Amino acid sequence: MVRLLSVVVSVYNEEAVLEQFYGEVSRVLKEISWEYELLFVNDGSQDGSREILDRLAAQDERVKVVSFSRNFGHEAAMIAGVDYSRGDGIICMDADLQHPPQCIPQILEKFEEGYHVISMVRTRNRSAGIIKNLTSAGFYKVINLLSDVHFESNASDFFAISRNVADVLKRNYREHVRFLRGYVQNVGFKRTTLPYEAGIRAAGESKYSIRKLFQFSINTIVCFSNLPLKLGIYAGLMAALMGLVVLIYTLFTRNGAPSGYATIVILNCFMFAVLFLIVGIIGEYISILFTELKDRPIYIVEDTKNID
Ligand code: UDP
Ligand code: MG
Repeated sequence: MVRLLSVVVSVYNEEAVLEQFYGEVSRVLKEISWEYELLFVNDGSQDGSREILDRLAAQDERVKVVSFSRNFGHEAAMIAGVDYSRGDGIICMDADLQHPPQCIPQILEKFEEGYHVISMVRTRNRSAGIIKNLTSAGFYKVINLLSDVHFESNASDFFAISRNVADVLKRNYREHVRFLRGYVQNVGFKRTTLPYEAGIRAAGESKYSIRKLFQFSINTIVCFSNLPLKLGIYAGLMAALMGLVVLIYTLFTRNGAPSGYATIVILNCFMFAVLFLIVGIIGEYISILFTELKDRPIYIVEDTKNID
C-alpha cells in the first residue's frame, strides 16, 4: 500500500521565495516512493503570496491551500496545516528554505522504521547571530529547569509526526497560547531526532522580532510550568526568616535595633521589588487564563483550494 505524505508549510508574506520553495520541494518529492500533498497555509499574507499559491494550486492538484482571514501567527498556521492534512505522515516546515527539503527522504525512512515523532535538531544555524543562538540556548536551559517535560534543545519548527500524533493534536492540546513543538515532544509515542543544518533564508525577511520572541518565551514557560507561581511562597518564607534573624539580633544585642536610614530604605526597595515581581508573574498567568477562557478561535479560514 502506498502511503501519503503531507508537507505542511506556513506562509506569511513569502512572495519572494515561494516559487523557489515549490520548485525545490517538488523536485525532492517526485523522487520519493510515497504519494504526497503539499499543503500551504497562507497566514493572512498582505503581499502576492496568495495569488502565487492559488496559481500553483490551479497548476498542480497536489498543492493544497488554506487561507486565513487575517494573520494569526506561525503557531496557528502550523496547527491548521495539521488539521487539514490527510497524510499518514506529516512534515511541518518553513517556506524560506531554512529547513532543507533534502532531509525528507531520511524522515520517510524513520517513518518506515515505525517512529511517530521525528524532531529535527539544528546542528548549526547559519542565519542567526550570536545573540539569537545564545538566547535560544538560554531559553531551553530555563524551560528544562522549570518544566517537568524535557525539551530537546535546538529542536525547531521542522518536525514530522505520524497520523496517530496528528489525531491527538486535532482533538487535544487545543490551547490558544500554544507551542506545537513542545506538544509534539510531549505526547509520547516512539520518538527520534535527526540532525540538520539550518540554511540561510533563501529570500525575504525574518518575521520574528526579538520582542516577539521574548513574549513567546514567557508564554511558553507559563504554559509548561507552574513553578514560577510558587515563587511567592519561597519569597515569603525567606522574608519571614530574615525578619526572625533581625528580631533575634535586636533582642540580644545591647545597642538595640540595627539603626540606620540606609538599612530601612534598602530593605524596603528589595522587598517591594520581590513583591511586584511576583505580582507580575501572577499577572502573566492570569492573562493567559483569560485568553483561554474567552475561547476565541485559534484561526479563521477564509478560503481553501484543492481541499474537499
Ligand atoms: N510565519 C507565519 N506567520 C507569521 C510569521 C511567520 O506563518 O505570523 C511563517 C513564515 O512565513 C515562515 C515561518 O513562519 O515560513 C518562519 O518564519 P521566519 O522564517 O520569519 O522565522 P525565523 O526562521 O527567522 O525564525
Ligand atoms: Mg526562517
